[in-house]
Amino acid sequence: MLFYYSRRFEAAAVGTRVVEVACERCGCEYFYQLARLGSGSASAPYAIGSASAERSARQGAQQDLDERLTEEAELVPCPACRWINEGLVDGYRRGRWRHASEYAAAIAFFGTVASLIGGWFLSAGPAADRGAVPYLLHGGPTVSITLAGAILLVRHLIRARIRPNRDYPLPPRLPRGSPAALVRNAATGELEPAVPDSEARFGDPNPAWVDFQVGRDLLPPVCCACLAPAEPGSEYRRPAFNAVDLLIPLCSPCARRWTRHAWLGASAGLGLAAAIGIPVLLWMNPDEVIFWMTIVVLGIVAPIVGAMVIGYMTEPIRVQLGDSTRGVLRLWFRNEEFARRVAEGLPTAPDHPGTALKPGATSSALSSRIG
Ligand SMILES: [Zn+2]
Ligand SMILES: [Zn+2]
Repeated sequence: MLFYYSRRFEAAAVGTRVVEVACERCGCEYFYQLARLGSGSASAPYAIGSASAERSARQGAQQDLDERLTEEAELVPCPACRWINEGLVDGYRRGRWRHASEYAAAIAFFGTVASLIGGWFLSAGPAADRGAVPYLLHGGPTVSITLAGAILLVRHLIRARIRPNRDYPLPPRLPRGSPAALVRNAATGELEPAVPDSEARFGDPNPAWVDFQVGRDLLPPVCCACLAPAEPGSEYRRPAFNAVDLLIPLCSPCARRWTRHAWLGASAGLGLAAAIGIPVLLWMNPDEVIFWMTIVVLGIVAPIVGAMVIGYMTEPIRVQLGDSTRGVLRLWFRNEEFARRVAEGLPTAPDHPGTALKPGATSSALSSRIG
């Protein structure tokens, strides 16, 4: 029996860069913080060479991050005249559908190779099949290359639709999690948000949800439910992107309370199902098999539903995906004061434009699965 397995390593690298912009319309100089997530993966067949696969996943993630930080940009309007430089628009477009050229190349290459090999096999086979050979030799490559071209065309059309200056001089509609424009404070030399943050986040229909860009935005080190000092080890951990976990600070009483609520919900669900389900079942008096099957299904489903309902009613935080390409999440906090601190704590003003913020800004996480 042939048994193949490989160990796959996924790595992520998070980094930021301070970008200097000179407005091409009014000449105003401003800055913004570009944050990106790089990802890399590698596999080790039969888990042989795991260490080197892990290393190459890490290197791939770092390389991907460096490329993205060099080539991509965010849509940050000039704080003086609201214009967004063409260079920023180009950089932002480059980040959308950035893997399309790789997919197109793979389809064109493998589609062509597969049809040529197929044609060769047929031409060597029985004479009756040889009529299909010209179709394979010409049709296969034509279809693959056309498909690859169509992918690139669609990408071009999607990117061309990104025109944030379309309604200029009206304020542009910005993507979720767009960084604020920073200006240098003449007195202190530090970079500061150019406009009050509440104004920078204009147009958000639901201010209870806060945009959170991985790498750029920070969370205050207090419990998100009660604002007591957060305790390491009690965080709420949740996978956000490939090899990147979201860590929400909690204190240990709040973390325990959350777990207790889940158990409470599960028992309530089970109790409710028993109190209503069993009398109804006895009254309906079904076949014995049906009776026990229903009991088993109720016993599994009811606690899950109960835990979900109580969880939704009491959980201190909810998470939605904002924009996976730019590592943006949307976070909702039950504690409004915590949500306000998250929104106001942004952005963290860096003092050395052009350099990475701090050594801790680049981090890697690894996960592996046998598959
Ligand atoms: Zn300007
Ligand atoms: Zn707490």
